[in-house]
Amino acid sequence: MGLMVYNTLTKSKVPFETIEEGKVRLYLCGPTVYDLLHIGNFRGAIFFNMLRNWLEELDYKVDFVYNYTDVDDKIINKANAEGVEPSVISERYIKEFETDFNRLGLKPHDHNPKVTDFIPNIIEFVSTLVEKEKAYVIDGEVFYSIDSFETYGKLSGKKIDDLEAGQRVDVDTRKKNPFDFVLWKPSKEGEPSWDSPWGGGRPGWHIECSAMIKEILGDSIDIHGGGIDLIFPHHENEIAQGEGATGKTYCHYWMHNEFINLNDEKMSKSIGNVITGRAFMDKYDPEILKFLYLSVHYRTMMNINEEKINGSICGLSRFYNAIIVANQVSQYDGTGGVVNKKFEEALLTLEKKLAKGMNDDFNTAEAIASLFEGVRTFNALNLKTKQKDVNSCATAIYFKEWIVKFGKMMSLFQRDPKEFLMRLDDILLKEKGLDRVTVDSLVEQRNQARKQKDWASADDLRAQLSDMGIELQDGNLEIPWEVKK
Ligand SMILES: [Zn+2]
Repeated sequence: MGLMVYNTLTKSKVPFETIEEGKVRLYLCGPTVYDLLHIGNFRGAIFFNMLRNWLEELDYKVDFVYNYTDVDDKIINKANAEGVEPSVISERYIKEFETDFNRLGLKPHDHNPKVTDFIPNIIEFVSTLVEKEKAYVIDGEVFYSIDSFETYGKLSGKKIDDLEAGQRVDVDTRKKNPFDFVLWKPSKEGEPSWDSPWGGGRPGWHIECSAMIKEILGDSIDIHGGGIDLIFPHHENEIAQGEGATGKTYCHYWMHNEFINLNDEKMSKSIGNVITGRAFMDKYDPEILKFLYLSVHYRTMMNINEEKINGSICGLSRFYNAIIVANQVSQYDGTGGVVNKKFEEALLTLEKKLAKGMNDDFNTAEAIASLFEGVRTFNALNLKTKQKDVNSCATAIYFKEWIVKFGKMMSLFQRDPKEFLMRLDDILLKEKGLDRVTVDSLVEQRNQARKQKDWASADDLRAQLSDMGIELQDGNLEIPWEVKK
């Protein structure tokens, strides 16, 4: 079965076919750069990174655009509050975003255009819409006329008549239809302004994506992504602009990731429960955020809470522990070893299951379940306790390469396993109000007691550590103790 993709436009899963053979033009709406992004904003970045990797796994060449909105009221307001130019704010938060993005270890996008670099393209685009009578000018302001675009509403399923019925009265009476939207507007005092055929002004929000897509990717693209909140009006308006200007299909597949809740509540500044991606990564780890998101299908609403985070820590610990075992076993010289046949077959079956899940609208939850099954199968071989030989070594290497290969597709399991497991333990120790020095010292006291054959004290210390949630791993020189998960 080939790749099936859920298309918001048709509200169904459909076979994926590209405009140009072997090539995918992909656009994802990026952030407005006026503040640090909250964790929910990273769901799209993490999901679409994985989507790109899987498309590449299927041998597509992907051209991926992720833009920065650097002209916006929020940026201007912040600039005014700080008494600086808006570009100071936007450049600052582009850098901050890049810091977070790099920390997540995601593959860089092919293009990260900024709106301010595309003003001539935007003006040209708006001019085309005016010429084609899709847009009209009033007092230096340009509006898109939604009545001029017959299929307006096709993405969101909204009907113009219903929209109008729900409209309050305080609309701009200059507009032909209350839902006509701004393409270009005059700049107010102190706002950034560019010369245009309609006077000094700045672009409306929706036009930037259409203009950047046209310039970088062309008239028609394969996949356009974003959070579900962008379906209406942003993406609906993008279609009207793109198709209004060119008469061609603007985008073939619209893909939207669901929202997240935090402890069953929507994150909002008024509730005060907003967690930035950075704060999450500081407290936990970027790997935990990626694992959390990819454990759930991207179209599923997700609730993040302590239990889910601990579940991710537990899951990641199982993966990395298996990698450590594989590393230990494969340290033996494996020249000429043969991979355990049954094991190899089991992994190949799981690989097919994983591919089937991924080809079913990028079901990463299924993919992770298959990888988990691979870990279980590997652990069941019990290579750690068996006599090391060339065949065990070959089998361990095979497993490690398998897990790292598919992990890479999700930007997971690429860390140094020992360091990462210590990181997970440090997170859990902190939650328990403990620290590594205290635990190490108790473990050392126990070792001394054992050396002196003082078994009673050794047992007491083991019990004490166990009560603290510490599990001793006697005989494991690399990781002598772990926090119970
Ligand atoms: Zn956009």
